[in-house]
Parts: sequence; structure tokens; C-alpha cells
Amino acid sequence: KLPKFPLAVLPTPLQRLRNLEAALGPGTPRIWVKRDDLTGLAFGGNKARKLEYLVEDARRQGATVLVSEGAVQSNHARMTAAAARVAGMRCVLVLDAAHGGEPVGNLLLDHLLAADVRVTPTREERNALMETIGDELRAAGDMPYVIPTGGSVPLGAASYVAAVAETLEQLRAAGEAPASLFFASGSLGTQAGLVVGARAFSAPFAVEGVAVLHPVEQLIGRCAALATNTAE
Ligand SMILES: *Cc1c(COP(=O)(O)O)cnc(C)c1O
Repeated sequence: KLPKFPLAVLPTPLQRLRNLEAALGPGTPRIWVKRDDLTGLAFGGNKARKLEYLVEDARRQGATVLVSEGAVQSNHARMTAAAARVAGMRCVLVLDAAHGGEPVGNLLLDHLLAADVRVTPTREERNALMETIGDELRAAGDMPYVIPTGGSVPLGAASYVAAVAETLEQLRAAGEAPASLFFASGSLGTQAGLVVGARAFSAPFAVEGVAVLHPVEQLIGRCAALATNTAE
């Protein structure tokens, strides 16, 4: 029931990976993939779901510019730039080039999407610029709406509660009740939403995040806190 601004093509397909099952050999369970790469906003990905709720919140607050941050090749930054264009807002991206700043891939797309891209050499300088960018924009007469890394705040994570409901409906139609749901976990919004959704809708599957960015020990406490806030 949370208000959202439509950005994603939903539901995304649920597909069976028969060739992968065959390649893995006898005894392999049935494997399905939820195609959240096909959300449709500027080449897709999971951030489109989160941005639907965050962009609507920004609109209701009268924001004129979306501000977000990440590494230069951030998928979240690219999709935030696209979401801003769809919603008629400007976009400022604060990106660190700690792992190289070649103007290719997502960084090139950020520019094509007419984002105001501010690249810092280090993560520390990125954090420092995020501290002051809001004031800079307000002083220029803008109304900024700041989206933290990966859109992984409770309102963004809530989109993956809804994604569980969407997935369970597709699984029911396919007559499937899988034991596990695996996904790449970075800034934890996806995982927090899936955990809450799986609990709320009594999903048959265990939610199995695969840490792709930070050590697991650092993630557990943060994920529990974000899931609790998302549930609230
Ligand atoms: C952002 C992202 C993730 C991780 O999602 P989080 O909600 O940040 O944990 C996984 N895969 C891809 C391709 C992403 O862009």
C-alpha cells in the first residue's frame, strides 16, 4: 500500500534454468531465476524497485534534485540518474574513483543521462562531499533528496517485501516451493526486504544472501537492524 512512482516493468519473469540443471548433473534440484535484471529502467537491475518508493517520497517532499553516491561503476548511481530523468528531476551523483575512473560503462551512462557527476579520488573525499552537497544545493535554490548508498534505507528495502509477494505468486502458479533463495548482497536493502517479506508471507524458502562487497561479520548486525526498521 506504500505509494510508489512507476519506474520498473513488473512482474519480472521467473524462469527455469534447465541447461544449468543439466550441466550440474544428476541430483541437481530444479533451479529457477527471478529476472530482476529485466526491471527495464536504464538496463534494469534491483535498484529500480527501491527507487519506485524513494522517488515517490522525493516527489511528495517537493524535491527538485535526487542526490546519491557510490563507486564510479555503481549500478545504483546509473539507475538513480535514469529515475531522476523519468520523474522530471535533476540528479547529482557523488562517486569515488578509488578503483579507477575511466569514463566507460555506468559512468559513461551517468553522463549520457545528464547527471551532474562529481568524482572524488577517494572514498573519504566522497563521504566529505556528501556532508556538504545538500547545503550547496539548497544555497543554489534547489530542494535535494538524498538517497544513501544502494537505496538501502527502510523505504527502499520495502520494495523487496513486495518482491517476495510477487515471487510467491509466480511460484504458486508454477507449482514450486523452493528451499532456498540466493542473491548477491551488497548494501543490504535487498536482503533486509527479502527477510521481512519471507517472514511476513511465510515463504517456503530460506533467504540466503551471498556477500559480494563486505565481510559477512560486518553485515549480520547491520542487516538485522535494517530488517527490523523495514518491518516497522
Ligand atoms: C546493488 C546490487 C546488488 C546488491 O543489492 P543490495 O540491496 O545493495 O545488497 C546485487 N547485484 C547487483 C547487480 C546490484 O547492482
